[in-house]
Amino acid sequence: MPSTKNRMLKQLKQVTLSTLKTSGAFHLVDRSRWRHRRLLILAYHGISLEDEHLWDYTQVMSPEVFRTRMELLKKSGCTVLPFAEALKRLYSDDLPEKSVSITFDDGTYDFYAQAYPILREFDYPVTLYLTTFYTHFNRPVFDVICSYLLWKGRSLPLDLNPITGRDAQVSLASDGPRARALDDIRSFARGRKLSAEEKDRLVELLADQLKIDYDALLAKRILHLLKPEEVKRLAEGGVDVQLHTHRHRTPLDRGLFLREIEDNRRSIREMTGSNASHFCYPSGVYNPAFLPWLKEAGIRSATTCDLGLASRNSNPLLLPRFLDVSSLSPVEFAGWLSGVSAALPQRRGTDKVVGY
Ligand SMILES: [Zn+2]
Repeated sequence: MPSTKNRMLKQLKQVTLSTLKTSGAFHLVDRSRWRHRRLLILAYHGISLEDEHLWDYTQVMSPEVFRTRMELLKKSGCTVLPFAEALKRLYSDDLPEKSVSITFDDGTYDFYAQAYPILREFDYPVTLYLTTFYTHFNRPVFDVICSYLLWKGRSLPLDLNPITGRDAQVSLASDGPRARALDDIRSFARGRKLSAEEKDRLVELLADQLKIDYDALLAKRILHLLKPEEVKRLAEGGVDVQLHTHRHRTPLDRGLFLREIEDNRRSIREMTGSNASHFCYPSGVYNPAFLPWLKEAGIRSATTCDLGLASRNSNPLLLPRFLDVSSLSPVEFAGWLSGVSAALPQRRGTDKVVGY
């Protein structure tokens, strides 16, 4: 839950933005040369299949809210460009008015079921940064499904013994103990170097402990990644599938880093027939050491979770984005489309999904 200070800051920001909107400042910035020369890259993760947006509103949005965002985008007169074209025009100073590109991270199944139909309705191009390991091992993503199950089963205490062997009864009703239980389970899996199959069995145990119908979650494919045939269909339907590493991680070792990109690229090529050359840093984590490695791998652009609009002065391998979250009000979203919000103090966005 947001703190009182954060709530107060949010209210202040809302009042400021509403005043700026009524005073015509949105329009002034909209039409300014400053905004005209900038590209707003929107970033999304999941669009919920069921109740995932209630579990993590920073990573998952309901389809209803996502639709209102797309409607606002349309009403505000933004030009939504395919990402590669937007970049080309950004660096040749040839952007149309209020340029926007839409990106999705990870490639969960809900992109296919929820986001894609809405994007098609609006005829908006989209870039999907796909992490590929769980595309082939099509079971729920370990770290995120553990977090989701602990939240979903929060009305019951959890006996950690059958899961990690530690004698502890944890109440999952509040955020703190729930986060510690999640840490315990993740550390256990890491410490034992469990394989994907072993981690999957651990998740089954956890669901069983929490009396959650795991088969029902599997049938709905909650927090699963896209299957190869779905990626293929999306690419045929015009979705631009790009790189996000194979195992959602960026090792600090050159060889391992390059392998992540190569495995990811090969897998995407097999599914789409295209050679991906745009990259998004998993979890928004980047390091100066990555830049020469990205160049070596033939990467043309890399997006971060740093908040802002991209300009001609932006390093193409460190492009800022705007991570849209459901807690944001329509006026705050409109503030970003116009560019006004870039001048106001901001929270930091992130892609919280951790490495596999
Ligand atoms: Zn990610």
